[in-house]
Amino acid sequence: MAVIIDGKEIAAKVREELKEKVDAMVNSEKRRPCLAVILVGEDPASKIYVRNKQRACAEVGIAQELYTLAENVSQESLEYIIDSLAQRSDVDGILLQMPIPQHLDPKRALAHIPAEKDVDAFLPENIGHIMRGDYGFLPCTPAGVIELLHRYGIDPDGKECVVVGRSDIVGKPMAMMLLHENGTVTICHRHTRNLGEHTRRADILVAAAGCAKMITADMVKEGAAVIDVGMNRDGEGRLCGDVDFASVEPKASYITPVPGGVGPMTVAMLMKNTVAAAEKHILKEKKCYEQRG
Ligand code: NAD
Repeated sequence: MAVIIDGKEIAAKVREELKEKVDAMVNSEKRRPCLAVILVGEDPASKIYVRNKQRACAEVGIAQELYTLAENVSQESLEYIIDSLAQRSDVDGILLQMPIPQHLDPKRALAHIPAEKDVDAFLPENIGHIMRGDYGFLPCTPAGVIELLHRYGIDPDGKECVVVGRSDIVGKPMAMMLLHENGTVTICHRHTRNLGEHTRRADILVAAAGCAKMITADMVKEGAAVIDVGMNRDGEGRLCGDVDFASVEPKASYITPVPGGVGPMTVAMLMKNTVAAAEKHILKEKKCYEQRG
């Protein structure tokens, strides 16, 4: 029987710790961190994600501003809004909720977010920091996985770590972070042959492929820690992960459920990045003030 990793509980703890930090910041600096969220169009899933982020902000004490833009907004208008948020000293983080409508270019839009306000860590500058291990902001989902591993005392040092999925926002940064934690890392993807041969070697297996229940018991080593990032719908429309929980759980030492595993941690890490951004901004303002004498 595996230990079920409770992402909901850990995320609540992280929010609690952040609230203490924010309260102290408001007391000492008379300043509250602020996150601006831009939502384009009517995607129902995006609306739910944005609502979850707003709730988390309220709980932690982060001020938040929501900019809801019409589905047919122009690239120029979107970039104008980002530019105006970029210039505001009271806005610490800017988040463009993905996906955005097809006629818009996400890379061009994201390039208007200054690196120090890129709390989703989507910009090349922040991705570059991940490669070097001198982290600025960490992408929220893999950062949430690392936080879960730490809090459950699962140390990747010297372990075989296998990541299934190589997307820019989950798989690749996940692999890099496990590497910085001294794991021996294998990245698998759609073109990987004999996937099971790789996953069966894993002491820590992270599934981030977006394929419902694709990781079955025969693909998992006895005693492995299994982290399920996937968020899919099964044949009956129920939320499920990439891991076939029922068959894998008895074989694993630790396992994350879906829902209630990695998902809540992603939002908690966004809060962490926003508070960190505010701390950096306060420090920068103080330095500028000192230099001006
Ligand atoms: P993506 O589609 O961008 O990337 C999927 C990756 O998995 C690709 O690299 C692909 O090569 C690989 N892949 C797909 N099918 C495979 C297979 N059969 N065998 C091996 N590799 C395969 O997806 P993403 O944005 O990285 O998200 C992955 C999953 O994680 C999705 O289910 C997504 O909903 C979920 N997700 C969850 C959270 C969260 O907060 N829990 C956050 C982001 C993404």
